[in-house]
Amino acid sequence: MAGTAAATPSHSSDSAVRPAGAAPAAAPLSAAVKAETVKAARAAALAHAPATGVGRGETLAVKDVLVDPEGKRHVRFARSYRGVPVVGGDLVVHLDAKRAYLGVTRAARHQVAVPSTTPSLSASQAAAKAAAHTGGTAGGAELVVDARDSTPVLAYRVTVEKKDADGTGPLHSVVVDAASGKVVSSTPLTDGFISPGLRKKLKDLGQQAAPDTPARSGRPAAGERPEPGAGFPAAANGTGSSLFVGSVPLVTTRTAKDSFTLKDPSRGDGETRTAGGKELNSFASGTAFTTSDNRWGSGTAADPVTAAVDAQYGTTATFDYYKSVFGRDGIKDDGAGPRAMVHYGDKVDNAYWDPDCGCMLYGDGDGETFKQPLVALDVTGHELSHGVIGATADLQPTRVDKAGNQFGEAGSLNESLADIFGTGMEFHTNNPDNPPNYLLGEKLGLEQTFLRRLDKPSLDTLEGTVDYWDEGSYDREVHAGSGVSSHAFYLLAEGSGKKTVGGFAYDSPTYDGAPVTGIGRQKAEQILYRALTRYMVSTTDFHEARKATLQAAADIHGGDSAEYKAVDRAWAAVNVTEANTPRQTPPAAR
Ligand SMILES: [Zn+2]
Repeated sequence: MAGTAAATPSHSSDSAVRPAGAAPAAAPLSAAVKAETVKAARAAALAHAPATGVGRGETLAVKDVLVDPEGKRHVRFARSYRGVPVVGGDLVVHLDAKRAYLGVTRAARHQVAVPSTTPSLSASQAAAKAAAHTGGTAGGAELVVDARDSTPVLAYRVTVEKKDADGTGPLHSVVVDAASGKVVSSTPLTDGFISPGLRKKLKDLGQQAAPDTPARSGRPAAGERPEPGAGFPAAANGTGSSLFVGSVPLVTTRTAKDSFTLKDPSRGDGETRTAGGKELNSFASGTAFTTSDNRWGSGTAADPVTAAVDAQYGTTATFDYYKSVFGRDGIKDDGAGPRAMVHYGDKVDNAYWDPDCGCMLYGDGDGETFKQPLVALDVTGHELSHGVIGATADLQPTRVDKAGNQFGEAGSLNESLADIFGTGMEFHTNNPDNPPNYLLGEKLGLEQTFLRRLDKPSLDTLEGTVDYWDEGSYDREVHAGSGVSSHAFYLLAEGSGKKTVGGFAYDSPTYDGAPVTGIGRQKAEQILYRALTRYMVSTTDFHEARKATLQAAADIHGGDSAEYKAVDRAWAAVNVTEANTPRQTPPAAR
């Protein structure tokens, strides 16, 4: 369980307040500012060792440096113990504008030291154990300290690649005890939109998805084709005819007078390629889409380019959302555009964010339950948001079962944030063929008409999503568990009770029956994003998420603002309160 220790009170309400929805005025950090900030954070971590838990023999590797518009600084670190990387040792050190220590958010409450860093098992023995356990091909084995449980152990971390027969994704991170050879955990590295449990349920029910893909008029209109002045390659305005979002503009790259490729130079060279029905896990091995007239797709899946139109539109719309709403420049905030591969694998009924590839992978459906490529807009928003979460707090499940289902509060929070920001992206994009709403997966054509929804999560009976926190949340399947914070977000944004937004009717209940007044979706998104990037770590649970969002609201609006109180109220309305905060780390079997 993570903890946040604040050394000073929250920002007062007279600190600079940004208008809701406005992008942070954060200029890119200069190398000098970054270096000074990191140096100060490292020194503070050691000087405040009782709070930060950073002990002798430990080194801190920088993962992220953020400077708030109000001046606070946050440095996210991964930790090593005697040169061995620590799993679950991540922390964020908070500094004020003058680089003085403010506090820390840390994943492990305990010391991460192990008695010895000399393994009994060799790396190749560990790799063999991992491969046998997961049924795939092991990459190299890296020695780590696994500090996720209260007694840290020396272990190996092995990435195993396997055929995606069970839909849990092609890559797994397997941790093997370096003394006993026991497999401690096997965690899918690629998040699938369709979880193993959901797949089984849909098959058991014999459901066949009937996606909302109205027939289009065929070829898109001709794109604008100005004569390039400065030679090739150059940005060009094309048009696409998609499966789910109608006819859409696409910025492409003109590589010769009559040749265009599906790569967007105005968005960090974000590009979509085809995996050609193979399980390719490197973007470089995908095949680029090219055309002579800058018109893409036909509006039906019969044309293999059509799914690429949806993918390219969705990934670039997500890039735009994070950039214009949060000032985040790409999934990793490094300016790189999003990448996608469509036609991934044979009969794959899923869509994944693959951090190893650094790309989205879209299957074409299994031909039984799902008969269309899984390229719906909010699927893309959800999955790319997993990429953003992985690049920031990197929330982890507390356990994964044999079938690949993930459990626990931090994993549930991960799924919830992917739904929240996926929804935010849908509103920001505001495509008339894909009207924005608080529903997820509503274009997949499921019988219950959506997969999850934020206003009253329990309306979902497929994954059994919950409306409120209870002690079952400690070990609930992550999609089912996501309802706690998703519901809190909806209440914070829109308030409780009956409400119609953009033609969609909602009726959001509260745990205690008392009403919640919303502060608006844009303010709610800013609070959640700041909480994710500053005050959450790999083990953050729902009660810590409450504290993280309260701190974020205090940063932006002040500690006695209406917004701060609304955050507190929204969490209470899903039964997450100061009073029922667990006093110790809840048991989590792995
Ligand atoms: Zn997910």
